[in-house]
Amino acid sequence: MKGFTTSEIGDKFSLRASATGALFFQDVVVPADNLLPGTSVGIKAPLSCLTQARYGITWGVIGAAQACLDEALRYTQTRILFKRPLAANQAIQIRLAEMARRITTAQLLSLQLGRLKDAGRMKPAQVSVAKWHNCRIAIDIARDARDMLGGSGISAEYVPIRHAMNLESVITYEGTETVHQLVVGRALTGINAF
Ligand SMILES: Cc1cc2nc3c(=O)[nH]c(=O)nc-3n(C[C@H](O)[C@H](O)[C@H](O)COP(=O)(O)OP(=O)(O)OC[C@H]3O[C@@H](n4cnc5c(N)ncnc54)[C@H](O)[C@@H]3O)c2cc1C
Repeated sequence: MKGFTTSEIGDKFSLRASATGALFFQDVVVPADNLLPGTSVGIKAPLSCLTQARYGITWGVIGAAQACLDEALRYTQTRILFKRPLAANQAIQIRLAEMARRITTAQLLSLQLGRLKDAGRMKPAQVSVAKWHNCRIAIDIARDARDMLGGSGISAEYVPIRHAMNLESVITYEGTETVHQLVVGRALTGINAF
């Protein structure tokens, strides 16, 4: 359409396998034929798509967190320091256990959200809780796993650094963490703080 242009955003440290572009709509005229059909009115219809996409994200980031825990487990069980595996240290086991606790909590949150979705009762504020929570635990786990790998953790040979970098995007897109916190705050107080 006249006035619509795109430009690719290069030099990204995050989601490098996916093309990210800027979309410009300079004085674009949208014909009536292109209006969304049926009962969709205003911004509500496209926003409802975001609710579905955010639900999907709550599951996707769990996968990233699980991959990081797997790597941290493998690494700490095979890395020998002072004649014993790194995983033999209480401080390491507590961190691994913390990861498992957070992943399990995230799984239960998404599972319950899925049940509500199936029943047609899933509310946007509930999706905000899960998007916020699951992205937060995933990025924290990825960063912690990277740290537990020591210097090796900065290498692409291991998954945590890649997941940590990608999760920087995921915690930002489809609503930043702060915006989801504000959605939950509004649901609790009835006051819009945006
Ligand atoms: C890799 C990638 C892919 C993307 N893909 C898409 C896509 O496919 N489609 C699409 O539409 N968008 C996409 N985005 C854009 C993404 O949704 C936005 O970057 C995101 O919503 C944040 O908006 P913003 O960048 O304008 O930041 P801003 O809105 O400028 O926010 C900047 C900071 O201010 C905070 N902030 C904003 N408002 C408030 C407030 N009221 N109170 C307190 N703090 C506030 C935010 O939390 C953030 O920390 C993508 C982004 C990335 C990184």
